Amino acid sequence: MREIVLISLFSILLVGSAFASIDSRYHTYEEVCAALDSLVEEFPGLCVKESLGVSEVDKRIIWGLKITSNAEEEVDKPSVLFTGSIHAEELIGTEIVLFAARSLLEDYGEDPAVTRYLDSLKVWIIPIVNPDGHKVVTDGLDEYFRKNKHDNNGNGIFDFTPGDGGDTDGVDINRNFPYNWEFGNPNWDATTYRGPRPGSESETKAIISLCRRERFVTSVFYHSSAYGTYNEWVIYPWRWSGPVYSPDYETIRDIAYEFAERLVAHDGGSYNPRHSTSRTGNANDWQYSEIGTIPFIVEVDTCLRPEGWRVNSVCENQLAGIKYLLERSLGPGLWIHTYNDSSGEPVHAIIRVLEIYDDELLSPRTTDSTFGAHYRLLAPGDYTVVVSARHFAVDTISVHIGDSPVKLDVGLRYVGIGEEQPFPQIASLESFPNPFNSQVKIVYSLPRSEATLKIFNLYGAKIYEQKLSFPSGECIFEPQGSSSGVYICTVEGNSFFLSKKLLYIK
Ligand SMILES: [Zn+2]
Repeated sequence: MREIVLISLFSILLVGSAFASIDSRYHTYEEVCAALDSLVEEFPGLCVKESLGVSEVDKRIIWGLKITSNAEEEVDKPSVLFTGSIHAEELIGTEIVLFAARSLLEDYGEDPAVTRYLDSLKVWIIPIVNPDGHKVVTDGLDEYFRKNKHDNNGNGIFDFTPGDGGDTDGVDINRNFPYNWEFGNPNWDATTYRGPRPGSESETKAIISLCRRERFVTSVFYHSSAYGTYNEWVIYPWRWSGPVYSPDYETIRDIAYEFAERLVAHDGGSYNPRHSTSRTGNANDWQYSEIGTIPFIVEVDTCLRPEGWRVNSVCENQLAGIKYLLERSLGPGLWIHTYNDSSGEPVHAIIRVLEIYDDELLSPRTTDSTFGAHYRLLAPGDYTVVVSARHFAVDTISVHIGDSPVKLDVGLRYVGIGEEQPFPQIASLESFPNPFNSQVKIVYSLPRSEATLKIFNLYGAKIYEQKLSFPSGECIFEPQGSSSGVYICTVEGNSFFLSKKLLYIK
């Protein structure tokens, strides 16, 4: 406790003597707010500012800026996201996204490519994901502060140690997301502290709720590294030990390579694309697993904060990458809309691309309930798309994706309550009673994993059970002592369920 008090006194003393070390080219929180106000004023109709939430401790507004033609309306277009300073001391991300916002807005109507991007996409920027931490840094209190200001020990004082590490307070927002949070660092004073609960921090909640609403097709969280360990990298999901690859790995890797190619490195080459290997509650893996966003981390430059005179050229360099991602967001992929084929109303449906989906690692990809829209980037190729929704018949569509997105409007047939298929029925089950030898042959195919077959009599008593192996096969139902008649056969896997009547003739 004594140490904490001393640190706090030290922090108070420091306040007066600070302000010198951060180059004035870097925006403070207040300057970022003013810069956003100027953009909204200069480019009416092309951008709107939105409060996404407030910071955990000082309740500073986390501002987002939506840039698109008809910005004031809620429109149906694919969205992309660029953010800065989720880690407080990595100020360069804030500069990159502000620079890009102004550049895109100034070029709209002048540069045909930029005009097309803003006509066809919603571009979101969040200059400062972590305003409290950002302010600790720009005020000069602690140039190496990374976390938010969560009062971990509940003493009502912001406890930190100037310099790298040793900060009793604060949560690393990029370890607080509710996907693989459990593998993160549980120690308060660690710079990578994951927080008390998954998604506990108000900064995390603000990002989550925007992502759930906007369902970004791609995103970049800009970072920079103090020690030169992660210089000039483009990081994409994922290759965990096992190895376990992200289901969209090939698509994502191809985009990451192209993206990195656009970013010039100090040695005259280009940035280095790398798959992520860690599983620790970060924003990117959560976005990918829950929303389906193809997310990137860019580790900018070769130092934590490029000198002020270099900031514009660093931003110019990153703008080339941003433009590539905007272009790619309008490239190969699936643009699907689902609606009720009798009423025309949008339908919230599950979209499975059979060649890629994985129900254990990823949440289902869905169309939104407002427009019935789902936008997804895919590598060119042939795919099988299965569309399912509660109370609607399942639709299976083969698509060939070339150089541009395939646009599918899928009218779903209403089949009514009680008839719905709660899981996509990609499995099949056929039974063949044999009147000559008291056997029923069952032929099955399964969508992705092994399953359990159970047979019940009409009183609901289970009379038979067997494991079915993936992906397909046959089995014989030959109950001892059962009488001829109708039985109910079910097949249950991790992500699907089938039931069917079966006739047994003794
Ligand atoms: Zn970082």
